[in-house]
Amino acid sequence: MDGVLYRGSTALAGLAEFACVTRSCPRVLLTNNSTVSAASCARKLRRLGVSVPEQEILTVSAAMTGYLAAEFTPGTSVYVIGERPLHDAVRAAGLTEDEPGYAAVVAGLDRDLRYAQLGQATGLLRAGCPLIVTSLDPVLLTADGAVPGTGAIAAALRVCGDADPVCVGKPEPRFFQAAMRRLGIPADRVLVVGDSLTADIAGGQAAGARTALMLSGVTAAPPGVTGPRPDYVFGSLPELTGFLRGCTG
Ligand SMILES: [Mg+2]
Repeated sequence: MDGVLYRGSTALAGLAEFACVTRSCPRVLLTNNSTVSAASCARKLRRLGVSVPEQEILTVSAAMTGYLAAEFTPGTSVYVIGERPLHDAVRAAGLTEDEPGYAAVVAGLDRDLRYAQLGQATGLLRAGCPLIVTSLDPVLLTADGAVPGTGAIAAALRVCGDADPVCVGKPEPRFFQAAMRRLGIPADRVLVVGDSLTADIAGGQAAGARTALMLSGVTAAPPGVTGPRPDYVFGSLPELTGFLRGCTG
């Protein structure tokens, strides 16, 4: 969503028309931000003037719920570094945060992260717990510029804990596949739209979908000869909307 529908807290030009044109086709909006819930995303979009049902929003915290529920038996305890939506996601998977006996370290963005938390997670990782993270994005773009992202916390844990993280968010194909399952549509009939070559385009391609790069966010120029090659490149939301209108008739 960020860099495609809005930037920070400002809607991008053409958002209302995009939302209207795509309302009739199956769609799901993804975010790698583990500090938001589908409800808070829907509220934000409403503030920006568009109404999107919560079922059409898939956050990385919700994807974490799916991953944990598939990998761990109910009642398993995990150590969590993250904000409220990530703690909610762990509970929704039927897991607990009860001490002792943690079976894994689950990490997302925590803007109140303390040294002691890194210390506890380091001990658990060195004792053999797996590390499961919501994203590997090193920075988060905010109105005030770039700030450390989940990837920075994951990097600290990786180094201190000598652990190889499992990522449940973009660019991992499982995140896009979870969205496609929700849509009930096979990958070859899905268009993944995003502003990041590494997170959105590479991830969408790995999941088997066609991709469209938006030059309205973190990527300012069309891709070069190396790296992921999107099927389409659009400079703005109205360009994308015009293209989609042509596809849907
Ligand atoms: Mg983005």
